[in-house]
Amino acid sequence: MSIPSATEFVEQLRPAGGRRSDKRDFIVNVFLRQEGHIGADALVDLVHRGDARISRATVYRTLQWMVDAGIARRVDFGEGRLRFEHAYRHPRHFHLVCKSCSQSFEFLSSDIEGLIEEVSAARRFTPRQSVIQIYGTCEACEAGQPASTPPTPTDAVFARDALRVAIATERSGLEFYTRAARLARDARGRKVFLQLAEEEKSHLGTLQARYEELIKADPALESQPTFLFFKGAANGLFAAGTTELKSGLDDRQALLIGIRCERGSHQFFKRYGERFEESEGKRIFLEFADEEREHRDLLIREYKALVARQRSRSREGRRRRTA
Ligand SMILES: [Zn+2]
Ligand SMILES: [Zn+2]
Repeated sequence: MSIPSATEFVEQLRPAGGRRSDKRDFIVNVFLRQEGHIGADALVDLVHRGDARISRATVYRTLQWMVDAGIARRVDFGEGRLRFEHAYRHPRHFHLVCKSCSQSFEFLSSDIEGLIEEVSAARRFTPRQSVIQIYGTCEACEAGQPASTPPTPTDAVFARDALRVAIATERSGLEFYTRAARLARDARGRKVFLQLAEEEKSHLGTLQARYEELIKADPALESQPTFLFFKGAANGLFAAGTTELKSGLDDRQALLIGIRCERGSHQFFKRYGERFEESEGKRIFLEFADEEREHRDLLIREYKALVARQRSRSREGRRRRTA
């Protein structure tokens, strides 16, 4: 399945029975071409550059229609007027807002979102939307430099960060399995861990190649500010598992830790991938979630086989003793 075009994106969100109109389509297209946060009046100006006959009221009505349809998001940076940003290939996010130059910078943090979910669940509250805006002074203003237009995270930055998160997870997975193989007592258990370490290594290679390809296509991408702050998620799961792998641990316990890590990783990437807007980054998350599920299933099969082996061994032992 390919990523939908802007037109397909709008079609998917168009309310059932919604009439099509050329004027509206024209306004929507102008809006989707804008990156960043645009005021209603600025959109009116842009629309008028293309077609001076479209009234201000029509642009305003269309903006409201786009908000209702989920094509546009309303943002309020406390400037006394609203701005709008489109949702096409643009994941939800939080904002850093500079009070000196009024520019805003986007980011997303899985730790903040996790906390919101935790608090909401504890208070039996159903969260629908969270708005986080951090006000302050941006790097350029702080340094007394002229403010440059901030690069709004594009699909490419999102993909870059999704790959970085996946690579970090793969790396800690590799560490986990390498260590588990070293500690395993059962020969077959060791083989499974080594096999998984090999798999993580080859996935890591694929992800790194994909990352390099992305950077080659746009070398400026490497230095763009981080958009996804998924540190805890990327390093936490397997890193915690690796510290649990002390010597003296048997294969069964090691497999259970591995299953828990892979399950957590699979659930994390799947949950995030499903919630993201259609984009390359979403694909990366969902593909990675599938790989983690395969690993989890392999470990579960191995765990069951190991338990069966141990059972038949102890049955045999009993039979020998009673014979
Ligand atoms: Zn600033
Ligand atoms: Zn934004």
